[in-house]
Amino acid sequence: MAELQPCPVLHVYGTRPNKIVDLRQYIRGNRRIGPITRRLSRIPNAGGPDSVDKNDPGSLPPPMPPLSTSVPDKATYKQPEMQEVPVISHDRAKKALLDHIETQCCWGKGAANKITTFENLESSTTYHYTLETFTETRSTQWQMEPFRGQFIDGPENGIPVHPWGIPLTSVEQFRDFETRSMEVPHTASVRPCHRCQAGGFLICAGCEGRGRLYCGMCKGKGRRQQRVKDSQGVWRSGVHKCDVCDGSGKKPCSRCNGTARVTCPSCQGQTRLKWYIQLLVTWKTYKGDHAVGKSNVPKVLVTRVPGTIAFEDVQPMLYPITKSPDPEIMTASARLLAEQKFPHSLILMQRHKIKVVPVTKCEYRHNNKLMSYYVYGLDCRVHAPDYPDQCCYGCEIM
Ligand SMILES: [Zn+2]
Ligand SMILES: [Zn+2]
Ligand SMILES: [Zn+2]
Repeated sequence: MAELQPCPVLHVYGTRPNKIVDLRQYIRGNRRIGPITRRLSRIPNAGGPDSVDKNDPGSLPPPMPPLSTSVPDKATYKQPEMQEVPVISHDRAKKALLDHIETQCCWGKGAANKITTFENLESSTTYHYTLETFTETRSTQWQMEPFRGQFIDGPENGIPVHPWGIPLTSVEQFRDFETRSMEVPHTASVRPCHRCQAGGFLICAGCEGRGRLYCGMCKGKGRRQQRVKDSQGVWRSGVHKCDVCDGSGKKPCSRCNGTARVTCPSCQGQTRLKWYIQLLVTWKTYKGDHAVGKSNVPKVLVTRVPGTIAFEDVQPMLYPITKSPDPEIMTASARLLAEQKFPHSLILMQRHKIKVVPVTKCEYRHNNKLMSYYVYGLDCRVHAPDYPDQCCYGCEIM
């Protein structure tokens, strides 16, 4: 029975991906190593598949990120500067409205063409803050497959490696979702199949091991009313031997072809199983966002359009935004960062951005009435719910 020991190396993720550090050194400086060593004692070893607690999901809390230089120091960390946003001209404001009318099936250009000057172009900004947290989760579970003489990497080949110590090729950061599974080295063993008691077959459930089933055509009597040809070739009706069961009252079971047994689906007839610990790795990006702006354009519209990325930062661990023209963004940043904590996952990278979307309120006179619409986004989308010519002649006569 091999004694399980902590894996000597640990993978470190961050700005220096795939760096290997000495786990023992890391353990000395890490207060969470207690639970880790307790979990280590539950990794595959002598207990084998029979010792598995079926209720244990097998999720393994990740080690704390080591205190390396990849995590920025809060005292010296300097947040990147915000950038300015462009302001649109009168011509651009009018052209945006005319372009928008083109895309609406029955809006008229009359009111727009009459605009010779704007009463006011009031520019404002909507700040769209987004936070993404890219995580990795590892869990283990016992797996089995038929043993067909394949190579068995058991504990005799070495100490089973802690799931968080298994090196993996890196995945693209901030992927929405990706999973990978693999065999944990040195955890495999061969055991007789428990399902068929190493016989390779199970009793057929279709016929309960009888091989034959009651014939429904003759109701098990072996004879039934049917039309048969006599010696002159003339069809005659009468009670004759059942042609389905050949007079036996029973017919062969189609599931086992009358053999009364079926191949064991677990070992596929091999009588032995290879058991091993399977590592399941999941990468997932969690997302959260918050938009702030004083205009009446619905936030759902503004957040979808292109804007200027006024601020972006990518770090293994982020601190809340400390500089923003709108304090609500700083509050949202702190709240979302507090929400995106995952005790059962390792945070590989975090990214937050502030997209600045310019919004211009364009005020004009139409029949002596002050009207307005909004131009928003770098591609000058228009939000004009009160535009006067929203129904053309064609619509009115319909
Ligand atoms: Zn059967
Ligand atoms: Zn029959
Ligand atoms: Zn079996």
